[in-house]
Amino acid sequence: MEKKDLKFGTKEWAPYNFNFMNGCSNDCVYCYAKEMAIRFKRKTSENWKEEETVSLKGKSFNKKEGNIMFPSSHDITPGNIELALTIIEKLLESNNTLLIVTKPNFQCIKSIINKFENKKNNIFFRFTIGSSQNTVLQLWEPNAPNFTDRFSSLKLAYNKGFSTSISCEPLLDNKFDILYKIIEPYVTDSIWIGKMNMASRRVKINTNSTFPIEKIDELTNWQSDKNIIDLYLKYKDNPKIQWKESIKKIAIENGLL
Ligand code: SF4
Repeated sequence: MEKKDLKFGTKEWAPYNFNFMNGCSNDCVYCYAKEMAIRFKRKTSENWKEEETVSLKGKSFNKKEGNIMFPSSHDITPGNIELALTIIEKLLESNNTLLIVTKPNFQCIKSIINKFENKKNNIFFRFTIGSSQNTVLQLWEPNAPNFTDRFSSLKLAYNKGFSTSISCEPLLDNKFDILYKIIEPYVTDSIWIGKMNMASRRVKINTNSTFPIEKIDELTNWQSDKNIIDLYLKYKDNPKIQWKESIKKIAIENGLL
């Protein structure tokens, strides 16, 4: 494989996406969508967390040949779950397959599962969990659900027979082994691992430089090429593990892929 052949971002996961909000209450400090919204003056660092519905006029709910990532530039939260359920229903009416990507709020996941249990073959859950430690999650993803909420969501989806996968992108600490042991038994599909992209620049823009710089440095050190290669070598033959572009690139550069 060559670096030029790598897909990146949401295209690694699905050819289509569907979004219905501007802003996200989770307010993750490393958020790509937040940085873009600030750059194009749709939002500010302060008001990104205020969720606003975008117009659905002209949006297609027709059948797509390939998975639709839902959502990709915000999240499904208690503030928008009712609208999310309506949109999921419309997309499923056309027999679409949805990759639901979220930092799962337990009540939201319960609502989706209760409403669409009979459509489980068209729904793939991908829950983002970058650490098993609440202090770490809270530092980087201040308003997102805690670990218990996310883990309970994973177990519920698994026990109800849905396809489950995990996104550890970005990894938020150097304790992937601990997280893996906890979540793996409830994952039917894949566990994706990725680095935090553009950490320093993005976090500074998103937080108006109020985020502790030493925490960025610590994470950047944990995600040095050497440490990433060690992680890659440890898990490369594990059939559930998938590598995001940020890690594949390092593997290619070092002749490992
Ligand atoms: S959940 Fe996703 S969209 Fe929302 S702030 Fe976090 S990274 Fe951004």
